[in-house]
Amino acid sequence: MSARILDGVPLADAIRAEVGAEVQRHRAGGRAPGLAVVIVGENPASQVYVRAKGKACEEAGMHSETVRLPEAVTEAELLATVERLNRDPRIDGFLVQLPLPKHINGERVLNAVDPAKDVDGFHPVNVGKLSIGDPTALKPATPFGVQQMLIRSGIETRGANAVILGRSNIVGKPMASLLIQQGEGGDATVTICHSKSRDLPGICRTADILIVAIGRPEFVTADMVRPGATVIDVGINRVDDPSQPKGYRIVGDVAYGPVSEVAGAITPVPGGVGRMTIAMLLQNTLQAFEQAGGR
Ligand code: NDP
Repeated sequence: MSARILDGVPLADAIRAEVGAEVQRHRAGGRAPGLAVVIVGENPASQVYVRAKGKACEEAGMHSETVRLPEAVTEAELLATVERLNRDPRIDGFLVQLPLPKHINGERVLNAVDPAKDVDGFHPVNVGKLSIGDPTALKPATPFGVQQMLIRSGIETRGANAVILGRSNIVGKPMASLLIQQGEGGDATVTICHSKSRDLPGICRTADILIVAIGRPEFVTADMVRPGATVIDVGINRVDDPSQPKGYRIVGDVAYGPVSEVAGAITPVPGGVGRMTIAMLLQNTLQAFEQAGGR
């Protein structure tokens, strides 16, 4: 059997078009929503993400700002930037791109972001709101994107056994919070695994929906997947490949070829979950704008 491919490109394009239409409506009524991204230092992967976020924002008709700070910026200077953006009336949402340099306390910075503008959904207020099912929560973009993929691909989560590999604050834990809520894209029975879990292959084989976010190239093999299961691969890993012009290729946390012979549906890497993340960031910016009353 060959799995159905869950292509993130048309799904993300559809969300971006929906957001774009709403942005046009708001723009005609006064002002477009605005997103700012703060980037510290020269991390090449972060530079790529930040450029992509700015471009997507402009394509959706939003106001976009990128604040570039040097690697040597002090924590106090970064906190002052956060405060400025908290007060800036043109900015409805912003994020501080991770990772931050070692001399900066990332938790202090994330906690300084106004929860109403926290479009990454990492502030404890939004984490708490998500946990209690408050619809005004701004939800972390990657798991929110996975949930939208499941909904829009017609994959039933209600009553399903969902197994999540990885318990990070940005993917695994909020993914679990989303899937256990009542309602569309929720009502699943959720198991979270991590590096201390016993019998990982056995737990994975109980999954109707297996979501993998561990950062280990091609870790999940075909024997870990129940025939017909849906496999969502969040991983993005660079592996050396001299046959490629850049000397590397991007693979997920799932061995795509063999697993797609067993799974019922699978996301590709690239072109799967990664495409959804930016679309959901735009969606969050629109939500933040609307919740603030479009002021
Ligand atoms: P983290 O490194 O923060 O967390 C990894 C998690 O995986 C941890 O909970 C860790 O367990 C667990 N883990 C690691 N190795 C194993 C193992 N051998 N067996 C079981 N569990 C294991 O990663 P992130 O959540 O930030 O990212 C995960 C992946 O998703 C990465 O490849 C990242 O690049 C990608 N990613 C993709 C995004 C997208 O837009 N598509 C966005 C964000 C991330 P423990 O807690 O015990 O250490």
